[in-house]
Amino acid sequence: MTTTRESLVPFYKPVTLRDGPSGSVADYVLSEIARRIVDGEYRPGQRLVEAELTQDLGVSRSSVREALRRLEINRFIRIEPNRGATVATPNRDEIVAQFRIREVISGLGARGAAERVHLQGNKAIMQTLLDEIEEQRSRDSEGNHRRENGRFHRAINEMSGIADIGELLDQSNFPILHTIYFRDLSHAHWERNMSDHLDIARAVFNGDPTAADHFAKQHMHRMVDIAVAIAARLQEESKATAATRRSQAR
Ligand SMILES: [Zn+2]
Repeated sequence: MTTTRESLVPFYKPVTLRDGPSGSVADYVLSEIARRIVDGEYRPGQRLVEAELTQDLGVSRSSVREALRRLEINRFIRIEPNRGATVATPNRDEIVAQFRIREVISGLGARGAAERVHLQGNKAIMQTLLDEIEEQRSRDSEGNHRRENGRFHRAINEMSGIADIGELLDQSNFPILHTIYFRDLSHAHWERNMSDHLDIARAVFNGDPTAADHFAKQHMHRMVDIAVAIAARLQEESKATAATRRSQAR
């Protein structure tokens, strides 16, 4: 296992050079390239040339190399021996496989949480989560769904008592899909997510492992179709990028 928590792209708080000593130059380069990919400035399939990035970002070549290595671990880019780095375009089979793995892991996390909800303090944590979901639903606006969603799932996974679960989920994640999903989330999907979270939280609160497992899997399964649709869009863009490159080379 080469992925560590530190190697993950810090989406919630993009690193800038102004962050000073706490954020290294490689962190800044990583965050900036990830942002450009997610914002669509770098298109799927586009080549990322080390020398150009070095010049453009005004940083050392080793910082760029380090950032690219971490972006590869995080599935933002692919690095191939003769082509170098290109922006990742996961295909349908890869996505479906990864989401099936995520489904099982999520079910395992919710099941574990339901089995341990009677332990000291856990009921109170679940009550807070239930109150938050109700509050978010009554507000009827997405708010910062990405952050709230992350907090919800982290709390359940931590309660499961399976220490590696967060890391396992990160490893089977295509952050580029995840990010676009949250960026383009419709109100209907948000409502669906909130109702899924409520089902999961109630099952955990009631100490019902079978129901918790079922609702968590179902919640994750819903993302497959959306992720496949996003990936199809990225594949199209990738082909268009390659076609433009060919016509320019002529
Ligand atoms: Zn969720």
